[in-house]
Amino acid sequence: MKYLFLLLIVFAGIWWIRQQRKPDQPSTKKLGPQVMLPCAHCGTHVPEDDAIRGTQGMYCSKAHRDSHEG
Ligand SMILES: [Zn+2]
Repeated sequence: MKYLFLLLIVFAGIWWIRQQRKPDQPSTKKLGPQVMLPCAHCGTHVPEDDAIRGTQGMYCSKAHRDSHEG
């Protein structure tokens, strides 16, 4: 009977840890969706990390930046 009570505490502890972890799950979702920016030349949406920054806006490639800004 003593061990049964101890086992119950262990299970309660595991359940408690799982409950504490739950709020962390939405924060990991924030990494998924990326900011998409439209190319100023052709309008194609590209991820912010891949976009080429120009003086007149963002571009999908260096070729479009060069042809748009001359
Ligand atoms: Zn483009």
